[in-house]
Amino acid sequence: MGKSPVTVRNEKLANTVVAALKKRFFGAHYCETKEEAVELALSLIPEGSVVGWGGSVTVEQTGLKDRIIEKGFKVIDRDRAKSPEERMEMQRQVLLADTFLMGANAISEDGQLFNIDSTGNRVAALAFGPKQVIVMAGINKIVRSVKEAELRAQTIAGPINASRLEPKTPCLITGVCSECQAQSTLCVQFLRTRICKPEGRIQVILIGEELGF
Ligand code: SF4
Repeated sequence: MGKSPVTVRNEKLANTVVAALKKRFFGAHYCETKEEAVELALSLIPEGSVVGWGGSVTVEQTGLKDRIIEKGFKVIDRDRAKSPEERMEMQRQVLLADTFLMGANAISEDGQLFNIDSTGNRVAALAFGPKQVIVMAGINKIVRSVKEAELRAQTIAGPINASRLEPKTPCLITGVCSECQAQSTLCVQFLRTRICKPEGRIQVILIGEELGF
């Protein structure tokens, strides 16, 4: 049986976005399945690397973290922290990791990444610190423009993350963003990554499956 129209379109879309990302000096790749994406990500991590990550449903869903642990890389895993203080210290340490793994809230068709963060550890690592950042993103994260990327990140990913993390925010109750200004807000830092500098530091792996949100 041939590929479905959705798969064919996903491939074309992903190839267009990969080309746009490369023009902006990102490393960029497309894998049809998450299993292929995991193998590719592993091949990008040099032996002996220290690897860390931010909170990412996409990275969880791929199983990449488990494979990294199995392979014996030294990891900085904040979820193993025994206290809030230790967790914060690990979030600081991860900024000096060799490789940092994360998802993306949205990627525009013209190859720009958009991410919103609460504590800021994830966008900090994306902007500076780890020698390499690997971004794993399902095809559902691609949007038409940067404007739509911001809209998606705040008004779709935001309320869904609220349902996951249960902060005291209006979107937890209503399911829609009301631009809250509470201390508990999830939407603190907004980062648009327009260009990858230095070239190739950020490796984006697009995956032909719906992952994360
Ligand atoms: S209501 Fe607040 S936390 Fe929820 S998506 Fe909007 S700004 Fe973010």
